[in-house]
Amino acid sequence: MSATVIDGKAAAANLRARIADEAARLKTAHGIVPGLAVVLVGNDPASDVYVRSKGNDARECGFEAREFRLPEDTSEAEVLAWVRTLNDDSSVHGILVQFPVPAHIRQDAILDAIAPAKDVDGLTPASAGLLASGRAQLVSCTPLGVMMLLRDTLGDIAGADALVIGRSILVGKPMAQLLLGANATVTVAHSRTRDLPGLARRADILVAALGKAQFVKGDWIKPGACVIDVGTTRLDLGEGRTKLVGDVDFAAAREVAGAITPVPGGVGPMTRACLMRNTLAAAMLQAGLPAPEV
Ligand code: NAP
Repeated sequence: MSATVIDGKAAAANLRARIADEAARLKTAHGIVPGLAVVLVGNDPASDVYVRSKGNDARECGFEAREFRLPEDTSEAEVLAWVRTLNDDSSVHGILVQFPVPAHIRQDAILDAIAPAKDVDGLTPASAGLLASGRAQLVSCTPLGVMMLLRDTLGDIAGADALVIGRSILVGKPMAQLLLGANATVTVAHSRTRDLPGLARRADILVAALGKAQFVKGDWIKPGACVIDVGTTRLDLGEGRTKLVGDVDFAAAREVAGAITPVPGGVGPMTRACLMRNTLAAAMLQAGLPAPEV
């Protein structure tokens, strides 16, 4: 029997619509328009596309979006000065510095400079600490989106055996914290893990976030499991053709799993929409309002 393919695009469109409704209510009731500032240092074409799409998503949700494009040779001190200016600007509720930054700028220095209340990427140590303390406010967008897909697909996951492959601060670690917070029994695997196939075969929920194309095989999947594929690798098919694939061998896994996210069209759209959710949440929290239900 073939797995249910989880439609991340539809879920993200639905989430964006709910965010836009909530933003309209916020404007009417409190005169607040969420403001997102995105800073890009350098000319990386992929980053430029991401920054533009984030601005467009924000405007579609009824937010103010400002994009700051700084030249490649901008010094770390200058980037930090930009971040501090945005920290002090009350019309900006969310600040995002697009990573990777050029090698002469320390990513950690930027994360340390962003005001935690405006950390819509959820990557500062303060956001990670609140999440680990069970007091999450702004959570990394990809794992946040994954939790929404899991909730929609499985409902209550208390007691489920969950395996997260990957332990980055962007995906693996916050993913494990969120699953633990939802009362799953969580195992975190990484490059030194022994017997990954054996761990995978026990998992009711498998989240693959290792960045290795089609690494997770069909016969690693527990029958009926929910498989979330975070990975994205662009394969070169030759003659100028490319293909985006995930960390899971989708064709084989879908024959065994109960539900599975495709790549593209699974986790990616939810990541984008969750940045909008966090911007709305940041604006509401900064105004002393409870975080939105969306
Ligand atoms: P990352 O920082 O490179 O982390 C990869 C993790 O996978 C590390 O913890 C690493 O272990 C682990 N790993 C590597 N090889 C492994 C192996 N053979 N067995 C088990 N674990 C292994 O990557 P990331 O930023 O978390 O991103 C992971 C993937 O998700 C990438 O493909 C990225 O493009 C994708 N991504 C997608 C979205 C989206 O919206 N769809 C968002 C974010 C990321 P060690 O810690 O031991 O090195």
